Amino acid sequence: MATKTLESRFEHLTVNDENEAPTATILKSKTAPAGAIPTLSSTQARTNLVKYPLQVTGDSKQNVASIATITTTTTVPTHPPSPVRVALQAARESDESDESIRSRATAKYFFDQPQAPKQFHLGMFEIGKPLGKGKFGRVYLARERSSGFVCALKVLHKSELQQGKVEKQVRREIEIQSNLRHPNILRLFGHFHDSKRVFLILEFAGKGELYKHLRKEGRFPEWKAAQYIAQMAAALKYLHKKHVMHRDIKPENILVGIHGEIKISDFGWSVHAPNNRRQTMCGTLDYLPPEMLKPGSSDNFYNEKVDLWSLGVLTYEFLVGEAPFEDTTIMTQRRIARCDMKVPSFVSSEARDLIMRLLVLDPEKRIPLEDVLQHPWIVKHCVTKGGERAFERASSSSSRGSSSE
Ligand code: ATP
Ligand code: MG
Repeated sequence: MATKTLESRFEHLTVNDENEAPTATILKSKTAPAGAIPTLSSTQARTNLVKYPLQVTGDSKQNVASIATITTTTTVPTHPPSPVRVALQAARESDESDESIRSRATAKYFFDQPQAPKQFHLGMFEIGKPLGKGKFGRVYLARERSSGFVCALKVLHKSELQQGKVEKQVRREIEIQSNLRHPNILRLFGHFHDSKRVFLILEFAGKGELYKHLRKEGRFPEWKAAQYIAQMAAALKYLHKKHVMHRDIKPENILVGIHGEIKISDFGWSVHAPNNRRQTMCGTLDYLPPEMLKPGSSDNFYNEKVDLWSLGVLTYEFLVGEAPFEDTTIMTQRRIARCDMKVPSFVSSEARDLIMRLLVLDPEKRIPLEDVLQHPWIVKHCVTKGGERAFERASSSSSRGSSSE
């Protein structure tokens, strides 16, 4: 029985099985602490009420629970933050707006209580507008009914995961991402499943995909690129400290939060690397480092320094609007292997210097993340009027680890 086998494979991921007892919510809003004000009420204005059917097939019990309603939302940011502030906010929890802190407090109250792990099921969520569609499922805006906490619900169909042979990848994504706590890494609050689907409860990234912003703007101004790269470096430093390498850094896998701060997502290709060495072929060609381009060869070993190369490609793409080795498949591979690229003259010499220090063929000679955060180009664009440096906050927040945990 294919379904049965698949079901048992996901068994250990279960927090709650079927969508029963939608009324038996664990958290009553009455009991919510003063700080736990729903994200929607403080940042977003309600508009029209729309119904979205989530359930396409399945039994009637699930249908009842999943044809849910939610108000679609229009974002009304009251005080647009300054660019420097955006970087700071992303890098330092204590410098967040009231509403971010409230939202985090709700999340903490609802999802992070160690004594009472939550039993999630679909009935606990109101389902809102679709946020997007991935290879293996759809993502919806959602709201936890009792707390009002707004999140993104990613719905994956078990049959499709099985067909695509990605169950392992999804399990890895869940295991790794649910243990990460960093302002520039998309939170995975929890997960649950029913007979046909797996649901991931994700942090809602209010401004969507970074890729779309980049395509719309063509390329980013240097200050913006520098602030994004500082946030990326802080997040990667945190990941590497936890012995996690992402391996699939690219604009498509970066989401943007409501304050313009970036959130790394898509941990499907990431790997826990206790031995610091892996030997699998994966990732997307444009961003692949040279050491991952040698299938079958005995020196096909790599470590977390693959993410430094990708950070270099990202810096280039932010500033130029296209990846440095974009070409035909075969030519891209050849050019990566020789680091054959040119930084256009409109890019500043400081930015060019950082790109050249990241795009180094020898992984051991790439500039370390601490030095990225101290690089003149980053310093130049990430210093506040008061002389405070966004990257210092970023690095201390990420190196403390527990500060964001
Ligand atoms: P892939 O299957 O390769 O991961 P993908 O990243 O596009 O593709 P999903 O991660 O399923 O697929 O996400 C689909 C889309 O939904 C995203 O591209 C994004 O636009 C939107 N989205 C996903 N997660 C969130 C989120 N947490 N907040 C806001 N939008 C999101
Ligand atoms: Mg994705």
